[in-house]
Amino acid sequence: MTGNVMILGGGPAGLGLALQLLRRKELHISVTIIERENYVGGLTAGCEYDGIHFDFGSHRLHPNTNQRIMHDIAELLGENLLARQRNGRIKLLGRFVRFPLNPFDLFLHLPFTFPMKFAWDMFKGFIETKKTHLDTFESVLLEGLGETLCKTFYFPYAQKIWGLPANQIDAEQAYKRVRAKNFRKIISKIFLTSGKSKKSSGNIFYYPAKGYHQIANALAEEVRKIGGKIFLSSEVRQLRFDSDGTASIMFDRYHRNTQNASYKKESMEMHADLVFSTIPVTELCVLMHPVIPDHIQKNCNTIAYRNMVLCFFVLDIDQFTPYDAHYFPEKEYIFSRVSEPKNYSGAPEPHDLTGLCVEIPCSDSDSIWNASDDELCRSVLRDLEKARLPVRMPIKRFFTKRLRNAYPVYTVGFQIALQEVLHFLDTYPRLVTLGRQGLFAHDNTHHTMDVAYCASECVLPEGVFDWLKWKEFRKQFQTHIVED
Ligand SMILES: Cc1cc2nc3c(=O)[nH]c(=O)nc-3n(C[C@H](O)[C@H](O)[C@H](O)COP(=O)(O)OP(=O)(O)OC[C@H]3O[C@@H](n4cnc5c(N)ncnc54)[C@H](O)[C@@H]3O)c2cc1C
Repeated sequence: MTGNVMILGGGPAGLGLALQLLRRKELHISVTIIERENYVGGLTAGCEYDGIHFDFGSHRLHPNTNQRIMHDIAELLGENLLARQRNGRIKLLGRFVRFPLNPFDLFLHLPFTFPMKFAWDMFKGFIETKKTHLDTFESVLLEGLGETLCKTFYFPYAQKIWGLPANQIDAEQAYKRVRAKNFRKIISKIFLTSGKSKKSSGNIFYYPAKGYHQIANALAEEVRKIGGKIFLSSEVRQLRFDSDGTASIMFDRYHRNTQNASYKKESMEMHADLVFSTIPVTELCVLMHPVIPDHIQKNCNTIAYRNMVLCFFVLDIDQFTPYDAHYFPEKEYIFSRVSEPKNYSGAPEPHDLTGLCVEIPCSDSDSIWNASDDELCRSVLRDLEKARLPVRMPIKRFFTKRLRNAYPVYTVGFQIALQEVLHFLDTYPRLVTLGRQGLFAHDNTHHTMDVAYCASECVLPEGVFDWLKWKEFRKQFQTHIVED
């Protein structure tokens, strides 16, 4: 094959795909990534202030990353890829317990009534007849785990993350997100964890020494080194498909004038023999020309993502707590997670300063998304105080970041609308939608990279895309289970 391959979006999916395509010397293609932001990495990006590497929301590379992805990341990062011990806590019923949840800790550290009620749920779970039709997050988890654990942890956390009560969230979310979905699995987890030391591999994660963003930066560097182009500050405006199937991408490229900090817009058009889109599927549909049929657009309008506001603090103290992350499912706290980036890498520097990253899931229309930085700072400090994590030391810096499309929201029945949209997009032989945003998949970095690697395998030397193979891969992607 010779020709132009255009990739929309420079997150891990776009970068991983570019890398794999460029490595295939038999393809003789040019590969260009178009990325809206002035940095690569998408949701896995970050920033640096006062010598602290902040991620845009807590990120870790999970040990179940498949071998080929782990091999590539390890090779690119070398000794910068650290194996670290998890050290997280969750606030439940006024107490802190270890996170990820461990049944032993729940029994030992939560109020006495919790283990009693949980044991009763478990007893009922073993003797009661199972329902066969489970179509909501609520029904799957109630059936599998009983009321106590669901009402204490899963349901309030779901409401906070996805903005919906558990009975309005599709069962798929439970299958994708919750590993131990029934008492049998919990019991085997108890035996498995009791047989392992605290320093076992289940407790380990991988983390780049200079922040998670190092993964995307290293991928981008490698892509450029082997001939790929990455256009940053470039926003796709239109995807045009002519009747012969050929595609053109219209995009605006913004150039910064360093003297007066203004931006100059350059409108560009590039021809593409193949287009891979990793941007949100809802956005892709709006960019298509000719415009997509009304009934597809209507389905598309029902697909929703959840946003996130991130609040960052630089504090005048060496360490805030020894924990890497604190999780807050309960509604009395505005945030879902508070992480301390220095504890992820274990870096001693900078001395006498540390940072906090506070995650607040929200929607476009709600007061959090539209709140001023002052209001956000006050609310976060108030709730940290409530959680007995008071910020008593001087705050050297406070800043925020608003992330759109942080989480796909699986409203009950979402699959019907999503499949309609994806089937419609599949009718374009030169357009492939993929990645977390492109497939509306609640996944981890290693999943989205694996999806990208699989997509590259579907490009045949003759320049056509192997749709049959891709459909088989898409079935496999359904089995991905998200790690926190
Ligand atoms: C809060 C949070 C915590 C997470 N923690 C973890 C974790 O601990 N471990 C883990 O493995 N995963 C984690 N993830 C998941 C991980 O971030 C994603 O799996 C990964 O970023 C998905 O990569 P992607 O390339 O598919 O999508 P994205 O990262 O979303 O990239 C899409 C890219 O497309 C660009 N784009 C969008 N529209 C346009 C346009 N019109 N023109 C040009 N470019 C456009 C965006 O700017 C973006 O760069 C977390 C996610 C969140 C939200």
